[in-house]
Amino acid sequence: SKRRGRNGWQAFTPELAERQLQRLQLETHLRRAVYNDEFHLVYQPQVDMRSGLLIGTEALIRWRNRSLGEMRPDRFIDHAESTGDIVGIGRWVLHEACRQLRDWRDQGLALDRIAVNVSYRQFLSEDLILSVREALDQSGLPGHMLELEFTERVLIEDAPETRHAFDELRAMGVSLSIDDFGEGYSALNYLRRLPIHGLKLSQLFIQGVPGNQSDVAVCQAVNGIANSLGLQMIAEGVENEEQREFLLQLGIEIGQGFLFAPGLPPEQLLQRYANGKTT
Ligand code: C2E
Ligand code: CA
Ligand code: CA
Repeated sequence: SKRRGRNGWQAFTPELAERQLQRLQLETHLRRAVYNDEFHLVYQPQVDMRSGLLIGTEALIRWRNRSLGEMRPDRFIDHAESTGDIVGIGRWVLHEACRQLRDWRDQGLALDRIAVNVSYRQFLSEDLILSVREALDQSGLPGHMLELEFTERVLIEDAPETRHAFDELRAMGVSLSIDDFGEGYSALNYLRRLPIHGLKLSQLFIQGVPGNQSDVAVCQAVNGIANSLGLQMIAEGVENEEQREFLLQLGIEIGQGFLFAPGLPPEQLLQRYANGKTT
């Protein structure tokens, strides 16, 4: 039986053993994944929802492993975060994303912004600032072309390390955006305290508009906050025409979502958006 003992330990069962084995396997593979070159990035366009023009892209990680197959980040980012491997993975992502933007620009793509996801653990490590500086130096990109997305957890815990990271990143000209905005807590105080550039409205709320009244209300409220604080808004997870129109009416111009494109391999992104094309 799977009873939890009085001392907090769990009885050993075949299912538990199986789960632990799977976890161990995943984490063993994960540890060597950067070294074995098993990650790649896809890039989801962020477009001007009126004109369809490309404004930026968000880099999204994918992991292809011989025995585990192709995996989305939901399957491994949390593990990487708990083992600390996220620091090395995050360093790889920063370098690869900056290298790719440089490459696209060299090929004539009119694109001057790339967004990269940064996890909580990365913010706590000295390594983040070093990695960003190196990635910018090696690619020759100016800081303002790089945008880092992080979740509200970073702001809520407000560790001295993160404060330091914010200041250093801003000094390099890097933009900082809050991902999945609205899902977290309501301590909006930090918006006034910290040098934030933009908010990404969570797809959780976009899903329900324009039909669901409370989702409409959240979108309006978040947009109001962004406007009054002079923050840039990006709507995430825009899947259909009704959502696009609703957001435009609200005055939110930049959107990201399957309506425009999913995450694309670099060659495909170049093809679709070269010379100001808008698909
Ligand atoms: P996220 O940062 O919120 O990224 C958006 C996710 O929503 C992506 O899933 C994207 O494929 C998906 N998506 C985009 N448009 C739509 C849409 O119209 N409808 C729906 N239903 N979904 C849409 P993905 O690529 O599986 O990434 C999941 C999460 O993993 C990301 O959520 C992000 O938190 C994390 N992640 C991705 N890449 C990295 C990375 O390089 N480093 C770190 N630390 N985390 C990453
Ligand atoms: Ca993101
Ligand atoms: Ca998001």
